[in-house]
Amino acid sequence: MSVTPAADVLAPLSEDEVRRIREDFPILQAQVNGHPLAYLDSGATSQRPFAVLDAERDYASTTNAAVHRGAHTLAAEATELFEDARATVARFLGADDDEIVWTSNATEAINLVAYSLSNASLGRGGAEADRLRLREGDEIVTTEMEHHANLIPWQELAARTGATLRVIPLDDEGALRLDEAAAMIGDRTKIVAVTHVSNVLGVINPVEQIIALARQVGALVLLDACQSAPHLPLDVRALDVDFAVISGHKMLGPTGIGALYGRRELLAAMPPFLTGGSMITTVTTTQAEYLPPPQRFEAGTQRVSQAIALAAAVDYLTAVGMPRIAAHEAAFGRRLVEGLRAIDGVRVLGAGIELPRVGLASFDVDGIHSHDVGQFLDDRGIAVRVGHHCAQPLHRRLGITSSTRASTYLYTTEAEVEAVIDGVAATIDFFG
Ligand code: PLP
Repeated sequence: MSVTPAADVLAPLSEDEVRRIREDFPILQAQVNGHPLAYLDSGATSQRPFAVLDAERDYASTTNAAVHRGAHTLAAEATELFEDARATVARFLGADDDEIVWTSNATEAINLVAYSLSNASLGRGGAEADRLRLREGDEIVTTEMEHHANLIPWQELAARTGATLRVIPLDDEGALRLDEAAAMIGDRTKIVAVTHVSNVLGVINPVEQIIALARQVGALVLLDACQSAPHLPLDVRALDVDFAVISGHKMLGPTGIGALYGRRELLAAMPPFLTGGSMITTVTTTQAEYLPPPQRFEAGTQRVSQAIALAAAVDYLTAVGMPRIAAHEAAFGRRLVEGLRAIDGVRVLGAGIELPRVGLASFDVDGIHSHDVGQFLDDRGIAVRVGHHCAQPLHRRLGITSSTRASTYLYTTEAEVEAVIDGVAATIDFFG
C-alpha cells in the first residue's frame, strides 16, 4: 500500500479546519498550570470529540442492554448497534464484518493470537488448526523496535511451545535492518509480528517488504497498527496481512475497546483465547461447542457502549478524511524533527527527516532527564510523554534508557508544535 506518497501530496488541514475540529473536543479548552493546554501526547491516548462522548452517553441513556441474548426490544436494539459498530470498524480497515473481533485493547488482541497459536485444543480444529499450532523448531519473528505489547506475548508463546523468537535488529539510526530480515525470515518462520509505525520513532516502516518476505515462505503476518490506523489510511487486504490490531483510545475512541482483524479462514481454524458465556453453541458438564468467529473470541458480557463510541470515532475520522489527516501529521512530524534537531544538545531518535512519518518524534536532551523535560513543559501547559514508552529494547539499542516524546493528531495546531520546540530550547537554557 503506498499511502505515504499519496498523503504527502495532499494539503494538510488548514488552520481554519483545525480550529473547527478543536471546537468538537471539550478538553482542548482546558487550562493547565495557568496556560492553555497544548496536548502533544496523542500517541499515548487521544482526546474524544462530542460525537464520541455523546454516542456512549446516548447508548447508556436510551438502549443499554446485554447483546446477543434476551428477547426484549432493548437487547435487540443494542445488538444491532453493536454489530453496526463492528461493520463500521471493518469498513475502516478494509475487512469484512466477521473478520473483526472486539477486544479490550491491542494488547489483548495480540495475546489472543499468540495464545490461540499454542492452545492445546487446536487439535479439535482439524488439519488447518494443526498447521497453525507452533511447535519446537518453529520460529517467530519480530523486531527490536516493538512496543512491549508486540514482544512479550511472543516471548511467552516461544516459552510455551519451544519455538524460537528471532528479532530483526535496527541500525544505528533506528531503522529496521531489512537485510537481516531477509536472512532471518525462512522456512522455519511461522509468524512475523511487526509494527507499522513505531510508537517511539514515528517512522512508517517499510512493512510491504517484510510482508513480502513472509509471504515467500508461507508465514503468517501480524501488523501492529496501533500507531498507524489512527493516522493513515489503512487497508488490511491491500497490505495482505493475516492479523492487524488497533486500540480505540488512540483513535478518538474510549479506553477499554480495541479490535483484532483476522483473515476469515484463520479465525475459523483458531481455538478461543478466553472461554465462558456468549461464545458457545452447546455445553455439557464435560465439554462445549464453540460459535464461529467473531463470537468465538468474545467471551463474557461485551463492551457495547465502547464499541459504539469507537464506531462514532471512526465516522468522525472518515468525515475529516484519513489522507488529509496523514498529510497534516506528516507536516508536523517533519517540523518536529527539523525544529528539535536544530537545538544544540537535542538528539532526535530515529532516522532522517525525509522518511515517511506520522506526527510523532522522540528525543533525548543531553544531560537532562526526560522527566525533567516533561515537568518543565508541563509547567507551560504542554503535555508530552516521558520514559521508555514501553519500548525498552529500542531505547537500549539507541544507548539510552528514556526519552521525551511529542505526538500530534488532527486537532494539533502549528502553534502547539512550535511551543514544544521553543519549550525544549527553554528547558536547556533553564537547566544549562
Ligand atoms: N503497540 C503500539 C505501537 C502502541 O503504541 C501501543 C500503545 O501505546 C500498544 C501496542 C498497546 O496498546 P494498548 O495499551 O492500548 O493495548
